[in-house]
Order: sequence, then C-alpha cells, then structure tokens
Amino acid sequence: MSIRIYNTLSKRKEDFKPLEPGKVKMYVCGPTVYNLIHIGNARPMIVFDTVRRYFEHKGYEVNYVSNFTDVDDKIIKKSVEEGVDAEVISERYIAECKKDMAALNVKPATTHPQATKEIPGMLDMIHTLIAKKHAYVAEDGTVYFKTRSFKEYGKLSHKNIDDLRGGNRSLLVTGEDQKEDPLDFVLWKPKKDGEPYWEAPWCNGRPGWHIECSVMSKRYLGDEIDIHAGGEDLIFPHHENEIAQSECCNDKTFAKYWMHNAFLNIDNHKMSKSLGNFFTVREILDKYDPQVLRFFMLSAHYRSPLNFSAELMESSKNGLERILTCADNLKYLADKAETQELSQDEVKLLHEVDSYIGRFDEAMDDDFNTADAISVIFDLVKFINSNVNDNSSKGFVNGLKAQFVILADILGLKVEREAELLDSDIEKLINERQEARKAKNFARADEIRQELLDKGIILEDTREGVKWKKA
Ligand code: AMP
Ligand code: ZN
Repeated sequence: MSIRIYNTLSKRKEDFKPLEPGKVKMYVCGPTVYNLIHIGNARPMIVFDTVRRYFEHKGYEVNYVSNFTDVDDKIIKKSVEEGVDAEVISERYIAECKKDMAALNVKPATTHPQATKEIPGMLDMIHTLIAKKHAYVAEDGTVYFKTRSFKEYGKLSHKNIDDLRGGNRSLLVTGEDQKEDPLDFVLWKPKKDGEPYWEAPWCNGRPGWHIECSVMSKRYLGDEIDIHAGGEDLIFPHHENEIAQSECCNDKTFAKYWMHNAFLNIDNHKMSKSLGNFFTVREILDKYDPQVLRFFMLSAHYRSPLNFSAELMESSKNGLERILTCADNLKYLADKAETQELSQDEVKLLHEVDSYIGRFDEAMDDDFNTADAISVIFDLVKFINSNVNDNSSKGFVNGLKAQFVILADILGLKVEREAELLDSDIEKLINERQEARKAKNFARADEIRQELLDKGIILEDTREGVKWKKA
C-alpha cells in the first residue's frame, strides 16, 4: 500500500506519488530565532522529522530543507534591547535551537538555510515578479506583490479572495497607504534607522517574510517540490503567499502536498510566545527525559490538537518506560542466553512479528498515524513479554530486538538508551573519578559527576564504594 497524506490543498487524503521515483523533496517552515524555542515550535519539528524517518524507512531518499527566519522585527527589537547586532541574537538562538533538536533526536535537515544568507535569490525573484507584472514598486521603494494578479489566490486556505483582508504580518509594514489594494503584501521594504539592511535597486532595505521560503525552497529543492509543511497557523497568509510568489515566478505548481500540524495547546489555547503561555523545550527537559517529550508529541495524530498537561506527560513517561523496559529485558536475555539456534517454535513466533510490522506500517501509511503506531508497539511489547523467557535462544531474542529497535527508531525513540548507560564507558568514568579524587583533583571529579548526571546517572558515595543509579 502506498503512503496516504492529508493534503490541505484538496482537503482529503491522497496517495503519495513522488515527483521523482524514490525521492522526496520536502520543505518545513522553521522558527524565527529570537528566543529559546517553546514546545509548540517543537511539535512540527518532531512530527515532520518522523514523517521524514518513515519515508527513509520505506527506502526514499529525502531532501529535507528547514529554514531559520533570522531577520524579523522581534529579532531586531531584542538586538536593540541588548545593544548587539541582530546577527548576534539570531546566531545565538540558532545554536540553542540546534541543541534542542539534537536532544529531541530530530535529525539535522539536509540544508538549514538562513534568510539573511539568501538575499541575492530574493532580489532575483522580486525582479522576476516585477517584470511579470505580479509586483510593483511604491513611491518609497517598498515592493508589493499584486495579490489579485494570481488567479488561484486562496486555493490553499479555501478562502474567497473577495472576503479577505491583508494578513497581520504584512500590515506591520510602512507605506501601508501606498498599496494599490489592501490584499497586496510586502516583498521588500525600506530600511529604518539602526536596522540591518541590504542594497537593492528599489530601496535599501530588507525582505518581507514570505519571500524567503519561496526563494530557499527554489534554491535547495527546485521549482517543484513534493511536500511543504508547517504549523496550521501558517496556512494563511504565509503559505498562501508563498504559493502566489512561487507559482507566478516559476509558472509551475509549487508543492504537490501541503501538510499542517495542529496546535500544541495549553488550557485549550494555542501555546505562543505572544500570549506568554509557553514552556520552552529547555524548561521541560529540566524535568523530563527528552524522549518523554518526543513520545508525548507523537502520542496524538499530528492533525489533532494536543493539550499539554503534567498528567499527559506522566502517562507518556510511563508509556515510554514500558517500551524501554522491554528493550532492557531483551538485552538482558540476549546477554545471558546459552543457545544460539532458534527452536522451531521460535522461528514461527518470529514470523508472527511480521503482522505487527504490517499493522505499524498500515498506521503510518494512513497519514502518519503515530498514535496508532504507538499502540501497535505496545501490542508488540505484550507479545514479546509473553513469549520470551530465560530459556529463549540468543537468535530469537536478538531477532525480536532488531525488529523492535527498527520500529522505535522510525518514531525517533532510542530504546537502547539503557544499554548505552550500562556500557563500559560509564564504568570507566566512575573509575576515572575515583582516581581524580585520590589525586585531590576535585574539579575533574565534579566534572565527571556532572557528565554522568547529564546522562541520567546519579552517583552515591557510600562506605562500600561508589554506587550509581538512574535519575
Ligand atoms: P514561528 O517561530 O512562530 O514562526 O513558528 C515556527 C513553527 O512552529 C511554525 O511551523 C509554527 O506553525 C509552529 N508553531 C508555533 N506555535 C505552535 C503551537 N502552539 N503548536 C504547534 N505548532 C506551532
Ligand atoms: Zn515559510
């Protein structure tokens, strides 16, 4: 069966047919980098990373592009507050965002372009749009896109152009009264004192928000792509405007499939910086293992709203624990198994695992239903727990473990974590700490204690020697 994707454009599930066999070109709108990301921002990162992992599992080569918006009013405001260049702010938060992504086991994108490094491409696209009469230059040098010149405007958000007003972000610009039509939106705007700017023929200034994604998608993936994705707040006006710019510039269908995740809410309100009702990823990772947050995000289908609560995080923690305990148990049994060869019954049982894999794939093929995929993993845990014991052969236990690890990895869960914790590196570190203490090098000893703590290991110095336990 092929993968079916709910396409915002057609409002139905469609069979995924790649533009090029065996390849997926996908673009995911990334964060504006002026602060630590909150867990709402982490939802698209985790969800679309899982989409990517599933495509890769199915043998596709995925070219995954996700941008950082590094020029924006909020970044500039923060740079003024701190008295540093805007670039200092954006580079700082790009680095922090990458740390959060790594902790959440979100794979780095094939390319992470940044708006400020793509200005020549933006100038080119704006030139083309002006030449094709889809854009015009106002008296103060602001360049506007002529929204009504794109006959299909509204096709993604299913809005009628006559019912629309200008999008919020585009209303923030100067020269509002110079628009020919309130629906027109900014492609390029004049510089203000103290703000970063680039030279351009119309005026020295900076790009509007929407043009960056059209340009970066074109540069790194080409004029036509398979999937364009982001949170549902981006459908209008951001993605609608991206389509208008790209299709008017390139005369090609911009993206075949448009995927949008629903909001992560708190008390049933969208979590957002502007409402102040957010938790940063960092705050949550102080309290929980990153895998718990990842598991929590995947416990609902990506198109369903998800309400953040301590209770749900606790149940995610317990759910994850069941999975990790099963993997631990398999490792323990494999290590102590005496026979290598599978018995006939074990061969049969191992074949039964195929039906779980089949059900897992069915769930993921159905618009990436991770909630159902997780319940299949729970069923597999039950199956494994009731079929392995101290007499199981190594071949059987390792066979089960291999399948189990593959499924967990598609969801980005590292079930062999505890195996990593038990490995000899950690024992070595404990010994090194003892040596450092003997040599009165307490700084190094403390460093090692912290290093182990970061890996979830707590050391206890007792009369019988050093003992350790999991955090
Ligand atoms: P921003 O930095 O606000 O442009 O957001 C970056 C990405 O996070 C976009 O794809 C947004 O749609 C997404 N996003 C922001 N807030 C939430 C939320 N509360 N729930 C889900 N996605 C969100
Ligand atoms: Zn975008």
